[in-house]
Amino acid sequence: MNKTIIVSNRLPLQIKIENDQLEVTPSVGGLATGLKSVHNDGKSLWIGWSGLTEEELSEARSKEVKKLVTAAKCDSVSLTQDDLENFYYGFSNRTLWPLFHYFMEYTEFDNDYWESYKAVNQKFADKVLEHLEDGDTVWVHDYQLLLLPKLIKEKMPNTTIGFFLHIPYPSYEIFRTFPWREELLHGMLGADLIGFHTYDYERHFLSSVKRILRLEVNFNEVTYHDRIVKVDSFPMGIDYDKFHDSASKHKTDKKSELQQRLDDHIQSGSDAKMILSIDRMDYTKGIPNRIRAFEYFLNKYPEYKEKVRLIMLAVPSRSNVPQYQKLKRDTDELVGRINGQFSTVSWTPIWYFYRSMPFENLIDLYTSSHVAMITPVRDGMNLVAKEYVATRTEQDGVLILSEMAGASKEMNESMLINPNNFEHIADTIKYALEMPLEEQKSRMKILQKRLKRYTVEKWAEEFMKSLHATKHLGAVIV
Ligand code: UDP
Repeated sequence: MNKTIIVSNRLPLQIKIENDQLEVTPSVGGLATGLKSVHNDGKSLWIGWSGLTEEELSEARSKEVKKLVTAAKCDSVSLTQDDLENFYYGFSNRTLWPLFHYFMEYTEFDNDYWESYKAVNQKFADKVLEHLEDGDTVWVHDYQLLLLPKLIKEKMPNTTIGFFLHIPYPSYEIFRTFPWREELLHGMLGADLIGFHTYDYERHFLSSVKRILRLEVNFNEVTYHDRIVKVDSFPMGIDYDKFHDSASKHKTDKKSELQQRLDDHIQSGSDAKMILSIDRMDYTKGIPNRIRAFEYFLNKYPEYKEKVRLIMLAVPSRSNVPQYQKLKRDTDELVGRINGQFSTVSWTPIWYFYRSMPFENLIDLYTSSHVAMITPVRDGMNLVAKEYVATRTEQDGVLILSEMAGASKEMNESMLINPNNFEHIADTIKYALEMPLEEQKSRMKILQKRLKRYTVEKWAEEFMKSLHATKHLGAVIV
């Protein structure tokens, strides 16, 4: 029986060394959930990095890790500290991440990073090839592994290979600045199906393929050597029922400390409203813009002072990269300045948490907030926007969403804004706070219906269906 191999930078489990003991926890993130059905199906295998470098693992420990990952139907790629520095923090996070999110001024083109990126992609390929048998299917994930499809296809041409990019694909004018642009495109084109979150990313990719490689593109198919490569969009969804059911159940559960505080806040003023934002502390998420826009709102509509509060959860991320450290400093400073300027004895305009929160607390935040304000300057998808909608069991609440997030393409009933237009954001906040319940419900209802239908499981299923269909595309006669 043929098998499916899933490949991503990280495995769907986390392995840590705690008190000299290995500790394993399964990931609860969207990707792990979505791929559960693919991974559980028959003879499937998941390949990725365990989270521990070779330097952290003795020979005995490595064997222990191997046992643990095998039990979870996985195998791990061994990475060194140097790989982590150059391939992961270097090329992936200081080159591809900023460039693909249109932050050209943050993009570092460093040859050592590139060499490491190629070497690590080869390590992943070697691991895949160890397990691969003729006729197997491979699904490769994300920007850390752009070269992998080609490395596999060259060695095992009968393998059906899918690739999905979880971040934006930039326009040709941005991508053309990348020094190794041909290699990257050839790497991706090793796949039989290439998936993106939105039609725009798909279009940008096809435009790069046409203009840089001068290949023939026919609607959404690329003629590549003797093969047809299909390119399509698959907007990733969420585990809708998990969020919706937790929010319903939440009402009857014992209250968390956070929920007590949120309740106190709600009761403290008859019409005090909460605006929520949740994101990783990343420069793509538009955190300083959001704070400034909120300040603009308070100045433009001073009647809202003491009547509204912004609750901002920023999850620490990549904090060893200088731009992320600067963003943290800028955010602290902005929050401090605005709270210092506007606070009264009974009111602080911004509640700011710099940490991650357990799932139950996220549900507390989602269900207690009248408005969610998600304003990335660039975001591949943005699942937080979808999660907020899924938790609104009474169909009240308003989502303000940046049109620069991939999610905006499917969420037209939210209040779409340009994250750089403070005037419009301020007016939209006011509109959201005053929106009649009927309108909130009619918007939420449509959004929920769509999210419930296209869940993350459905996303994986549709991708796999399309991938298997490429087997029938046949070879091109040249
Ligand atoms: N999240 C989390 N813990 C937190 C805050 C957020 O696990 O303390 C989750 C959140 O529920 C969402 C994910 O992190 O599923 C963020 O995904 P999104 O697509 O919004 O942004 P990304 O971080 O992938 O850029």
